[in-house]
Amino acid sequence: MTPTPVRSGARLKFYYGPMDCGKSTLALQIHYNHARQGRNGLLLTRNDRSGRSSVTTRIGLTKQAVEVGDHQGLVDLVDDGTRIDYVICDEAQFFTVAHVEQMADLVDEHGVDVYAFGLATDFTSSMFPASARLFELADEVLRLQVEVLCWCGAAGVLNGRVAGGQLVREGERILVGDTDDAELHYQVLCRKHYRSGELA
Ligand SMILES: [Zn+2]
Repeated sequence: MTPTPVRSGARLKFYYGPMDCGKSTLALQIHYNHARQGRNGLLLTRNDRSGRSSVTTRIGLTKQAVEVGDHQGLVDLVDDGTRIDYVICDEAQFFTVAHVEQMADLVDEHGVDVYAFGLATDFTSSMFPASARLFELADEVLRLQVEVLCWCGAAGVLNGRVAGGQLVREGERILVGDTDDAELHYQVLCRKHYRSGELA
């Protein structure tokens, strides 16, 4: 059997930036723009902040999404007979490294455009494994900087985890919190204040 020719020009793009930089908002905007051109797409997420199967943004937009489990194959999701032109992966840092390999398969073997959105680094300022793999494999890596500022006014680039008013540097990698004033929350800081631990 001759393999089906793959549409050339499909790309794997990784958009990264700190919390609050507008990643989910851009993900939904791209989804909307493509759908309006008559393209069929899938919106995927992992551990969205709402705790439901949706992409929610801090500015109040919400869209139904497929929550991807550890063992869910991404290629299987586009193989059910429906034509899929693109896949959007929000919260890409929480995907597995195997999922990132499958994103590359979607592009190379199936001609599907993949747009991944996520944090580069965790609260210890170390790269998430899936994000590291995206840096290695993506055709394009774009840093988003939608004017998210540290309290000092410098560009916010790192995600600090704050518990009891103190910056913490050890603990579980994934602990979903928010950027409000909860006992445990996240705060975007410039490199200097991330490293010094000064929170205001
Ligand atoms: Zn600062």
